[in-house]
Amino acid sequence: MTPSTQSSRLADIFAEVLRRNPGEAEFHQAAREVFDSLERVLERHPQYADASVLERICEPERQIIFRVPWVDDAGRVQINRGFRVEFNSALGPYKGGLRFHPSVYLGTIKFLGFEQVFKNALTGMPIGGGKGGSDFDPKGRSDGEVMRFCQSFMTELYRHIGEYTDVPAGDIGVGGREIGYLFGQYKRITNRYESGVLTGKGVGWGGALVRTEATGYGAVFFAEEMLKTRGESFEGKRVLVSGSGNVALYAIQKVQQLGGTVVACSDSNGVAYDEAGLDFELLRRVKEDDRGRLADYVEQRGGSAEYRAGAKIWSAAEAGRVDVALPCATQNELDGDDARALVAAGVLAVAEGANMPSTPDAVRVLTEAGVLFGPGKAANAGGVATSALEMQQNASRDSWSFPHTEERLREIMQGIHENCARTAEEYGEPGDYVLGANISGFTRVADAMLALGVI
Ligand code: NDP
Repeated sequence: MTPSTQSSRLADIFAEVLRRNPGEAEFHQAAREVFDSLERVLERHPQYADASVLERICEPERQIIFRVPWVDDAGRVQINRGFRVEFNSALGPYKGGLRFHPSVYLGTIKFLGFEQVFKNALTGMPIGGGKGGSDFDPKGRSDGEVMRFCQSFMTELYRHIGEYTDVPAGDIGVGGREIGYLFGQYKRITNRYESGVLTGKGVGWGGALVRTEATGYGAVFFAEEMLKTRGESFEGKRVLVSGSGNVALYAIQKVQQLGGTVVACSDSNGVAYDEAGLDFELLRRVKEDDRGRLADYVEQRGGSAEYRAGAKIWSAAEAGRVDVALPCATQNELDGDDARALVAAGVLAVAEGANMPSTPDAVRVLTEAGVLFGPGKAANAGGVATSALEMQQNASRDSWSFPHTEERLREIMQGIHENCARTAEEYGEPGDYVLGANISGFTRVADAMLALGVI
């Protein structure tokens, strides 16, 4: 087929994705980004088009939606909606986190599941892609309420998951506490201590060292590799990290270990600035041990720290130089104007710790300005890769040391960087990590799908 035939074929398939999935804006956005990278792939490999691989990849293998009834502390019955989208299992069991956030609907889970398929392929590990969650809001809920919700959620989910079937983990609103309650209920219902059914478990009961840190550390390792291509490192760099949850916290820690200074982080209420550099240990304690807010951190930190309620972190760029930006909160949190502010502040590199935090406009502004841009499906793959290491340890009843596991994570991130860079070059766009990640992830999944036949 001619190139123009391929682009019109892609346009037709995308139109069909829009028609079949109405109102799912985030899913459309994630699919569009992958489609935009694939024209040259279909030119070189017509077998993918002939076998309708792309059409099949866009249709989840299974979508589960269920009622989650639970009783709050006041004795009232609450109803939430649960989701698990099992997107693609060509490479291994479905693998991907659970998100508990009031904004969650089917379109959120489908965008995350779709991204996960390619991300997991990029890790080179034997894992397919899936994602799940609920519109439950854990914020302000007691431990007892969170436990009852998790137990009810798992009472339906358990029949769909398993070590060889589907292995969930955490995401926004789902950390060690929630994984504990979910695993406890799974164990109780099935009467099996099946450690490999969930990842992100506590280190004392089947969890892996470094899993908690892995996504944030991995994003920083990926950014470090990008910086190396320009002869740069984190040493002496001024860095912004959005969010203050799991990914943001450990990105902050790793940047500091590599000699950078993180001058701001954020939550959904505002931004904490600290020209002297954030105090990681205090921040971790406030957020993880006390389940506090960023404003509490600033109050305890005093001195140079300042909390700006309602502010957007990227406007910190107006206040001075920014060398590296790591968006680690949520989707579409960095738009075109934010990207322009970052470029004006001299940003060298942006690596996405979150999933799809940059809008398409932002990606365009950054890449046109020559900023090194690491897309989430590559830059934040360290979390799922370390989950796969946790599965390996569970399967062999083994546990690895922190330094050994961190070294494996670093090698995996270097491998993903190398793979994206090489693929981008092979396809004539050196330095385009978006293209490299999409093509490399797609071809690995597509080859497996071709081998497995039409299923
Ligand atoms: P957490 O729940 O631990 O933290 C989320 C952080 O982002 C919080 O600071 C939260 O602020 C902020 N945030 C969430 N939603 C919004 C919003 N709508 N507007 C502004 N701020 C918001 O989640 P994680 O750190 O685990 O996840 C962060 C991102 O990283 C997500 O995109 C997730 O999909 C992605 N990711 C996570 C992985 C993991 O291993 N955990 C793996 C790969 C990707 P607040 O507390 O005020 O809500």
